[in-house]
Amino acid sequence: MTADPVTSHAPGAEYAETASAAYRAALQVIESVEPRIAAATRKELADQRDSLKLIASENYASPAVLLTMGSWFSDKYAEGTIGHRFYAGCQNVDTVESLAAEHARELFGAPYAYVQPHSGIDANLVAFWAILATRVEAPELANLGAKHVNDLSEADWESLRNKLGNQRLLGMSLDAGGHLTHGFRPNISGKMFHQRSYGTDPNTGFLDYDAVAKAAREFKPLIIVAGYSAYPRRVNFATMREIADEVGATLMVDMAHFAGLVAGKVFTGDEDPVPHAHVTTTTTHKSLRGPRGGMVLAQPEYSDAVDKGCPMVLGGPLSHVMAAKAVALAEARQPAFQAYARRVADNAQALADGFLKRDANLVTGGTDNHIVLLDVTSFGLTGRQAESALLDAGIVTNRNSVPSDPNGAWYTSGIRLGTPALTTRGFGPDDFDRVAELIVDVLSNTTPTQASSGPSKAKYTLAAGTAERIHAASAELLEANPLYPGLTL
Ligand code: PLP
Repeated sequence: MTADPVTSHAPGAEYAETASAAYRAALQVIESVEPRIAAATRKELADQRDSLKLIASENYASPAVLLTMGSWFSDKYAEGTIGHRFYAGCQNVDTVESLAAEHARELFGAPYAYVQPHSGIDANLVAFWAILATRVEAPELANLGAKHVNDLSEADWESLRNKLGNQRLLGMSLDAGGHLTHGFRPNISGKMFHQRSYGTDPNTGFLDYDAVAKAAREFKPLIIVAGYSAYPRRVNFATMREIADEVGATLMVDMAHFAGLVAGKVFTGDEDPVPHAHVTTTTTHKSLRGPRGGMVLAQPEYSDAVDKGCPMVLGGPLSHVMAAKAVALAEARQPAFQAYARRVADNAQALADGFLKRDANLVTGGTDNHIVLLDVTSFGLTGRQAESALLDAGIVTNRNSVPSDPNGAWYTSGIRLGTPALTTRGFGPDDFDRVAELIVDVLSNTTPTQASSGPSKAKYTLAAGTAERIHAASAELLEANPLYPGLTL
């Protein structure tokens, strides 16, 4: 159960001593101005070291990535694009942005990469507007005597607005595992587009490509969005592209969750979205293990429009974060990252098997990516009760809807679990089998509380001694797989 620095690619183990000195110095400087922030920063590391983190969208970036963000690039405005900035003195930002984009192109085999988006949501907004700018206006440009959208007058824009007909978007529904930016009504994507969702097969929980194709033929969307936040299976992007081509839609893939598995060559061929999608968006901080941020990869016909993310929907780029993206992408190009990505998927398999052999129910009956979606109704619990009871025992997860969830999006019936973070610590398949055992132990010892006006979906009782027993068992796993080994503050 000891961490294997090669397969787990324990980030920063090889320069832990230098990183320790850097962090100690940084905290001392912060302490001299606002000691409470220095204290909270120390405590955050201690808390992260002491908890069993199974949040599927989180990870632990390397000290190199984290330290890169604490630089003077934070102070520089650089609106515009490489070599064409609205501010003077951006030569070093140009270097940073060029390197980050080059690493992204090389890593993902993409013709074009835009590394400015501040987050995944921003990356999706850039992509939506770029697709609209390319798709909706381009055929009209010639009629208006313009070569480029930037040549249009106010009157031209007015006429285009009046003609906008097809602004339809087809994305995966939230309760099947899609993200709120994929057309969820309260999100801007559900307001700026006429939206329709595709779900999963009610019997198997798997994506039903025939149903997606049928919905696409009926709805004739401008954009089909593929990708997910809580779907525990791989997607065939070649098939999604065929569906998009048949109805003349642009295929946009949001690989925010599984970008690390694409980078690490676990998802190849039809499962690699980049060659199949017209536009691919991602976050950089989940399985990709970089800084918090977003990125857009595009085929050549969309790259000019994506390149105008600023000023279209973005302001000044976070140059210090773009620098950290470059460092993280350089790490992801190392062979050790491929070993890490394979281990992420193997560990998810071990976690799923661990649940199945203990008779727990999983959405789709298992996993073949980094996510396991546990349906907790067989324990008589809501997702909310399960999430809270697990947290009491030191296991950090998040509640999540299951398809057609009877408990709705707030209380839910599921718990979403992911393997990227603990895999970074060095956890292997045996450790994840033990994690499944501990989770089943907690849920089996949790009883829902009946409220006076009927069953409460939030209250529960954890049997005496459970939290202490699980904390002790987790501590053994955590000590055997230390976070940032050798890093001392
Ligand atoms: N897209 C998907 C599929 C996601 O899962 C998420 C985050 O959970 C996002 C986009 C948004 O990312 P961010 O929180 O960086 O805006």
